[in-house]
Amino acid sequence: MWIDTHCHLDAGEFSADRVAVVARARQAGVGQIVLPAVDVGNFETVRTLAHEHGYCYALGIHPLAVGGAAEDDLERLREALGDHHADPRLVAVGEIGLDRFVPGLDTERLERFCTTQLQMARDFGLPVILHSRRAVDELAKLLRRIEVPGGIAHAFNGSRQQADVFLERGCKLGFGGAMTFDRALRIRALAQDLPLDAIVLETDAPDIPPHWLYRTADERAAGQIARNEPAELPRIAQTLAELRGLSVAALEAAVEANSRAALPKLP
Ligand SMILES: [Zn+2]
Repeated sequence: MWIDTHCHLDAGEFSADRVAVVARARQAGVGQIVLPAVDVGNFETVRTLAHEHGYCYALGIHPLAVGGAAEDDLERLREALGDHHADPRLVAVGEIGLDRFVPGLDTERLERFCTTQLQMARDFGLPVILHSRRAVDELAKLLRRIEVPGGIAHAFNGSRQQADVFLERGCKLGFGGAMTFDRALRIRALAQDLPLDAIVLETDAPDIPPHWLYRTADERAAGQIARNEPAELPRIAQTLAELRGLSVAALEAAVEANSRAALPKLP
C-alpha cells in the first residue's frame, strides 16, 4: 500500500470535497495518510479527521505558525501529547522545525519553539516530522543536541552531505511533487542516489503540486488553481521508480517499510 507521510487534509482547500478526496486516495491505493498539525488551533481537527478516516496524525507547532502562537501554546502542546500519548493514531510530533526562507520571522523564538518541541518528542518517545527551509545545518545542530527517536525531514531539499546528517540522526527524507519537475536537478539527483531505505513519499497536499498539476503565475491569475491531493502519490512515486530504475511494486514495498521504520506507530 502507498503511504502519504505528509498531507494537510484539514486545509481549507479541501473543505468543499474532503470526502471525495479521501475516496480518490483510497481508489488510487493510498491506504494511509499522516496529518501533521500546524498550531494548537488545529490539533483537534487533525485528530478527529484521522480517527474519522482511519488515518494518523502528528501534533506540533509549525515554524510559520510560531509568530502567531501564544507563549503558553507550548504548554498546551505538552498537555495534548500527554492526553493522547496512548492514542495509536498519534504517530509523531510535527510539523515542527526552522524556516530561514520566509523573511521577518523571529529567529530566536523559532529556535526556542523548535528546541522545546524536540525535547517533547524525546520525552514522549515520539519521532518528529521536520520542516526546514534554508535551515538544514541549524536544524541538524539541534538534532545533535537533542536525541529524538528519528522521524522524517519533510520536503527535503538539501545537499547529499546534509542528507547524510539527517540519516545519521535516524531520520528518513520525504520526497514528493518537487522531484517530478525535470529542472529540479538537485532533488532528482538525491532521489536517485540516496540509499533506498532513506526515502519516504509525501504529497504535502494541498501544496507542492507535481508538474502535471502545476499552473503558471498567469494561469493562477486567471483563476486556475493548482491543488495537490493524496491520490497523486502513486503517480509521483512512478517518477521515483523511473529515476531509480525500479519497478513500481518494488518501490511501493520499500517506501512502505521505510515509512513504518520512521513512524513505528503507523497501523
Ligand atoms: Zn506541511
